[in-house]
Amino acid sequence: MPKQILKAYKVRLYPNEGQQIFFAKSFGCTRFIWNRMLSDKIEHYNEHKTELKNTPAHYKKEFEWLKEVDSLALANVQQNLRAAYNKFFKQGAGFPKFKKKGHRDSYTTNNQKGTVAITDSTVKLPKIGHIPAKFPSKVSGLIKSATVSKTTSGKYYVSLLVETIVEPLLKTHSNIGIDLGLTDFIVLSDGTKVANPTFLSKLQHKLAREQKILAKRRAVAKADQRKLSDSRNYQKQKIKVAKVYERITNCRKDFLHKLSFNLIKNHDVIAIEDLNIKGMVKNRKLSKAISDSSWSTFTTMLNYKAEWYGKTLVKIDRWYPSSKTCSGCGHLLTKAELPLQVRSWNCPSCLQSNDRDINASINILNEGLKLATLKTVGATGLA
Ligand SMILES: [Zn+2]
Repeated sequence: MPKQILKAYKVRLYPNEGQQIFFAKSFGCTRFIWNRMLSDKIEHYNEHKTELKNTPAHYKKEFEWLKEVDSLALANVQQNLRAAYNKFFKQGAGFPKFKKKGHRDSYTTNNQKGTVAITDSTVKLPKIGHIPAKFPSKVSGLIKSATVSKTTSGKYYVSLLVETIVEPLLKTHSNIGIDLGLTDFIVLSDGTKVANPTFLSKLQHKLAREQKILAKRRAVAKADQRKLSDSRNYQKQKIKVAKVYERITNCRKDFLHKLSFNLIKNHDVIAIEDLNIKGMVKNRKLSKAISDSSWSTFTTMLNYKAEWYGKTLVKIDRWYPSSKTCSGCGHLLTKAELPLQVRSWNCPSCLQSNDRDINASINILNEGLKLATLKTVGATGLA
């Protein structure tokens, strides 16, 4: 069955000078209203021990310039602040933070009967009209909202959230288990090893180099007792670092999108380990490999793409001993028998020779298929 989904398209914008000024005003106003509403809430709570129900409208009289920007952008701030409070009270997240200038500048508006629209080469936004744009792919469907943002290196983007229909992908009658590799990015139960892309490690070296130069320029400015904001060399280098960083983020995302889509396209059941990434990143030895390879972004992509395209993603309990179990006979090694540096081993019970990661991914697949069957039986049992 075709599915209705929400899909985000990130589109590069090329605003002219006037449009850039409008964006700067919008970022400023949304940041101002967020910070102001938050500080008033805090003050009110400290005095009365109750929550202040303030809205952007309350501030428009005192601060007339708030009327110059898109009112929906301000309304969305109120909603986001509401959501941040709920997360704090109900989900134990941190208390909402004040926003700093130049840090993740963005604002969100909604499409009301065509106030947000696209042509082949422009995006139309409320209060500002058409902005030259470059689309990475064809955007089809009903636009729900648009989030305009500016990166540290000065590029503008709009993320369009679009309601669209996707058709399920054909069943392939093939299933796959995926293990998070240490040297490779992932290792599959069919024996395929997918390496981390080499261009990423090259870019990472470049980033390290540029960051070193940035640190030197910071030290020089400090020695001369100059503010960093007045040091042109420092600011220039800061943009250079941001550019490399943005390229890494984009390249990595692109790699993960292609990889996750191909796995979903070629297989019906995809089994992965449900890893506790936060816990693992604390472990120094693994931290680089894990943050570099963006396992959690990858599993998120697999998750929603499986949902979109009618495939099944199964997550295996993280305590399941996928590495230490022989996929041939089920013999279980002790922790001491399989230290991290051992990349392959011969099973003492059935003598099968096991590549550490491929063996693990086969176990993940088998365990995943068991769970997938249980789920289906459970579901039909209920119906
Ligand atoms: Zn064995």
